[in-house]
Amino acid sequence: MELALRSDMPTYAGGLGVLAGDLMRSAADLGVAMVGVTLASRHGYFRQQITPDGNQIESPEEWDPAAFAAPLGTAVTIRLNGHDVWIHGWLYVESGLGGSVPVVLLDSMDARNTSEDRTLTDVLYGGDESYRLKQEAILGIGGVRMLRALGFRIREYHMNEGHSALLALELLREQTALGSNVDRALEEVRLRINFTTHTPVEAAHDHFSYELVRAVFGDTVDQPLLRRIGGNDELNLTGLARATSGVVNGVATKERMPHAKEIANGVHSVFWTFPSFAHLYDRYIPEWRHEPALLTRAMRIPGEEILQAHGEAKRALIDTVRARTGTVLDSSIPIIGFARRMTGYKRPDLLFQDLGALRQIAREHRFQIVLAGKAHPHDEEGKRAIHSLHEYANQLGGDIPTVFLPQYDLDLAKVLTAGSDVWLNTPLPPMEASGTSGMKAAHNGVPSLSVLDGWWIQGWIEGVTGWAIDEEGSGNHRDRLYRKLREVILPLYFSDRQGWVEVMKGTIVHNASLFNSHRTLRRYAAEVYLAAS
Ligand SMILES: *Cc1c(COP(=O)(O)O)cnc(C)c1O
Repeated sequence: MELALRSDMPTYAGGLGVLAGDLMRSAADLGVAMVGVTLASRHGYFRQQITPDGNQIESPEEWDPAAFAAPLGTAVTIRLNGHDVWIHGWLYVESGLGGSVPVVLLDSMDARNTSEDRTLTDVLYGGDESYRLKQEAILGIGGVRMLRALGFRIREYHMNEGHSALLALELLREQTALGSNVDRALEEVRLRINFTTHTPVEAAHDHFSYELVRAVFGDTVDQPLLRRIGGNDELNLTGLARATSGVVNGVATKERMPHAKEIANGVHSVFWTFPSFAHLYDRYIPEWRHEPALLTRAMRIPGEEILQAHGEAKRALIDTVRARTGTVLDSSIPIIGFARRMTGYKRPDLLFQDLGALRQIAREHRFQIVLAGKAHPHDEEGKRAIHSLHEYANQLGGDIPTVFLPQYDLDLAKVLTAGSDVWLNTPLPPMEASGTSGMKAAHNGVPSLSVLDGWWIQGWIEGVTGWAIDEEGSGNHRDRLYRKLREVILPLYFSDRQGWVEVMKGTIVHNASLFNSHRTLRRYAAEVYLAAS
C-alpha cells in the first residue's frame, strides 16, 4: 500500500512503507529480480503543520508523478460499484549497486473515469471504509492485472502486510478460469504467494462487512469462496492473506507470532547512514556497502573518529532544529530523540509523565529532547498526544529544552536518528511488532533506550548496544526509564567518554551489522522465494 522511495515522493506514511522501500533498495543492490507495486498517492498521506498550541493541521501533500516517474502507457480496468474503473501506471526505477528494480505506481487519474473514481488512488489511508476497500482492490487485483498487461511473468508474490491480500482473488480467478477446481486453485496460489505480517495484534487490522464487499464487488468475486478463506462474519484481509499464502513471515519473535516464520526487519545501510559515518566506513570497512555484516569490524575505528562523525550529524540536527523552530540546542549536552507515528501504543508521552521528576534528573545532568511524528487524521488519541507534547515542552521551558519538529519524513528521519545521542522507544508490549528507527540509529552509533518489545528483544545487550527500560519484567516503565537515565545513561555520557564511545561502537558492531535490509532480503530470497515448496 505504501512504498517510501524518496523523501519528496510522499507515497508512504511510516515504517511499513520505509521497510518496503529499503527492501527495494537492497534488491537493486543485490541484483534480486523484483518489481514493486504500490499506489500513486498523488495527495500523499498528508502534510503536517502544527498550530502554536500544538494542534495538528493536515493538508494534501500533492506531488506530480511525472516529476520522478514515466507514464507506462498501459491501462487495465477493475469493476467497482458496478462499473469499470480504469487504472494506469507510472514507472519509477530504483537504481543500486547491482542494477535496478522497477516500481509501478497505480493511478486512477484517468479521463475515462468518473470524477469520484479519479481520486481513488489519491490519499494514502484516506477516506472511508468504501474508499479503503476500493484502494485495496486497485492495489491487489488491479496490481496483478497491470503486471500481466505489462508483460511481467511473476514467479512469486510477496504481500507486505494484508493491504494487498485481494491479489489472491485475482490469482484464484485466473486458476479457476484455466479449469482448476477451487481446492486445486488454492493449492496453486499458495505456491506463489508469501505474506509478511507486521503486527502481533491482527484483530485490529483491515476488515470489511460483507454488505460493503457486495456493494463494491457485486458478483465479480466468488462470495462463498471469500467467506471460506477471508472470514465468515466479515472480510479480514490479514486472514485472507494467511489463508492464501504458502509462507507467512512475522517480523516479531516466534513466541509472539506463532504459526509464522521469523525473518526480522532491517534497514538499508547506505540509505540510513549519515555521510560522515559512511565516509568512516568506506575508509575502515571498504566492503560494507555490499556486505553490511562487515560492520562488525567497526571495532577498528578509533573512538575519536566515531565522536567526530557523530558530532557532524549532531550539528546537522541542531541546525535543522534551529531552522525549523528557532530553538538553539547545545552540542555539548545529550539529545534524546523520539520520532515515529504518533499513536497510543507507542506512548510518546511516557517520558513526560512526571515533569517534576524529569526536572530533578536534569538538575544533576542536563539533557535536551527532540520529537517528531504524524498522527493519522482519524487517530484522536495520537493527535491529543501531539498536543500534550507541546504543553510539556512549554512547561519544561529552559529546564529541559524540548522541541517538536513537524512533518516527519525520510529526510528528517535521517538527521534525527543520526544526530540524537540516545534513541528512545517506549511502546506498550506486546504491541510493537518490530520498529525500525532504532536500527537506523544503530547505523550511526546511536544507542537505544527502549522497552523490550519488537526488534529490541533481539537487538538489546545491556550496556553494550544500549539499555532496556524493563529488563526486570513488567512494572512501572516511567520510573524505570527515569532511573536508567539518572543512574546509568547520563553519568556515562558526562563522566566516561571512553565508555560512551564503546557503546556507540557496540550499536554498529552488533546491531547495524545484523539489522540491515541486505540480510533481510537475502533471507527472503534463500528461505522464501527460492525455498523448495
Ligand atoms: C523509520 C521511519 C518510521 C518508522 O519508525 P518506527 O521506529 O518503526 O516506528 C516512520 N516514519 C518515518 C519517516 C521513518 O523514517
